[in-house]
Amino acid sequence: MTLKIRSSIAMENKAPAVVLPMDTASIPGTIQPVNENKIEIQDFSFYYGNFKALGNINMLVPANQIIAIIGPSGCGKSTFLRSINRMNDLVPNIHTEGQVCLNGEDILGQGVDVVDVRRRVGMVFQRPNPFPKSIYENVAYGPRLYGIGKSHGLDEIVYNALKQAALWDEVKDKLHQSAMALSGGQQQRLCIARALAVEPEVILMDEPASALDPVATLKIEELMQTLKETYTIIIVTHNMQQAARVSDFTAFMMIDNPQTRTGVLVEYGPTAQIFTNPKNKQTEDYVTGRFG
Ligand code: ADP
Repeated sequence: MTLKIRSSIAMENKAPAVVLPMDTASIPGTIQPVNENKIEIQDFSFYYGNFKALGNINMLVPANQIIAIIGPSGCGKSTFLRSINRMNDLVPNIHTEGQVCLNGEDILGQGVDVVDVRRRVGMVFQRPNPFPKSIYENVAYGPRLYGIGKSHGLDEIVYNALKQAALWDEVKDKLHQSAMALSGGQQQRLCIARALAVEPEVILMDEPASALDPVATLKIEELMQTLKETYTIIIVTHNMQQAARVSDFTAFMMIDNPQTRTGVLVEYGPTAQIFTNPKNKQTEDYVTGRFG
């Protein structure tokens, strides 16, 4: 096993019931996950009212890697992603069981500053959703809200975020023009810049390229490779080629049965393994296009 398990889990004198992205040594082309875990999900279940949408999910997410979540529609991918920054709190009548730890701290715990969790775990949505404001104001909005940039200047933060999002060169001469005039791909990179401007640690992406053309999609995928040097990225994608291209690890989810329809994590491992040598028959059927 190449992943480090946090000592709090390892010391429990029992094998952690946590799905590890293992066996990387034997898989050509995979990256050795030597990083600390950024996120640890333990026995996590999620309910919309009485409906159990996610059941007993265990997963370790190493820092500075890209994790793809794949699975058929309705298996709970978005619900799972939104649980990682408590975005689901906005839905009435939900409750959770288990833990979602960020840097070892349970973000579901009582007294957690949810606004701060959402700053540390940023989110990019399927459709680019810039504010109807200027490009500059879109990026400056978050830092202003959180009081970031008072010391080293908002202009510098905006520049850095746009630069990191590979958008600076395209917009540097029109920072004060409306963001709505940008192309879809540029708007999505602006939304990424907006997320980066508040100094997050993790970026969640919910099908970030599904509304974009192939060229804009490629730009987002290239950008992800740069961003992972600084951030941990979790992406939900319907596009299996995209998951195979961009991610280091892939998590395959499915509903447990057609009656209960609870989403479960079927298999999690190095992307090359999931796509070429899955351990689970359901994973194999899905990645080879036999269902879903
Ligand atoms: P996926 O992203 O894999 O398509 P979702 O997370 O969107 O799956 O949905 C998982 C399950 O939760 C589905 O059965 C869906 O109908 C249900 N669901 C999603 N959002 C809500 C909601 N706000 N209220 C009640 N049920 C929901």
